[in-house]
Amino acid sequence: MISHESFNLLCWIWIAIAVVIFPILLKVTQPYGRHLKGNWGPLINNRLGWFIMELPALVIFGYFLIFKANLLNVLVLVPALIWGVHYFHRVLIFPLLIRTARKKIPVLIVLLAFMFNVINGFLNGYWFVHFAVVYKSGILIDLRVFTGVILFITGFVINKYHDFLLIRLRPASGNGYKIPFGGLFKYVSCPNFLGEIISWAGFTLVAFNPAALSFLIWTIVNLTTRALDHHKWYIKEFPEYSKERKALIPYIL
Ligand code: NDP
Repeated sequence: MISHESFNLLCWIWIAIAVVIFPILLKVTQPYGRHLKGNWGPLINNRLGWFIMELPALVIFGYFLIFKANLLNVLVLVPALIWGVHYFHRVLIFPLLIRTARKKIPVLIVLLAFMFNVINGFLNGYWFVHFAVVYKSGILIDLRVFTGVILFITGFVINKYHDFLLIRLRPASGNGYKIPFGGLFKYVSCPNFLGEIISWAGFTLVAFNPAALSFLIWTIVNLTTRALDHHKWYIKEFPEYSKERKALIPYIL
């Protein structure tokens, strides 16, 4: 078994790697979806790619939580439910919803994301099995868990609603892009990413451990840089694109 100190150190190293990768991702556009270029090696079916790369998060975390953790502890059960709901959708529903006819994704991206999800699923699952704090009712802890759950639900709804608006922009057999409207698209180009970040901030507040924090920081790194790239792309592709919209955070970024 890994000691608590070594495990925390692992999480902080993982966070440091995310911080180092942030400026790199500000320069290198993640090559999938609209940013796919031909020079990123072999490609596979986009739908299959999404399923493969997200699967480890569901399976590895699920293994730890279902077979090893104490689900009677509220501080384990609530994060487990959050993770389960999110990844059940991301792995088994999202790949079926996307209108992605004939689209491909680089095998390299699938492999990198697969490895990320192995590490992320392991760190988060392992923490709840070995280091979870036992729940004792109290105003501070109840308030923290309640706020975290509300944040998660808010972020989840924002993410899914705007993913739905984006997916519906295209006919079932199409591959093109349009300017998205509705909901928070009035303010930002990527409200789906904003929702995803809010939902993992909620999870982190409930879980309150360095593994969850590492996931939140990785999500911020991935999605802030991707939102900036999407925003630049919209401005370049659509001269009529609203000057009022920001990339990710209304009025700010
Ligand atoms: P995008 O916003 O790039 O795309 C979402 C879907 O909508 C894709 O199927 C895309 O098609 C389609 N789409 C997007 N914009 C348009 C448009 N203007 N016109 C027509 N169709 C459009 O999201 P991602 O694919 O990057 O991510 C999908 C989900 O995964 C999101 O919910 C995101 O939050 C989450 N995610 C989470 C990460 C994390 O670190 N936690 C990292 C990456 C993603 P196409 O693919 O063909 O462009």
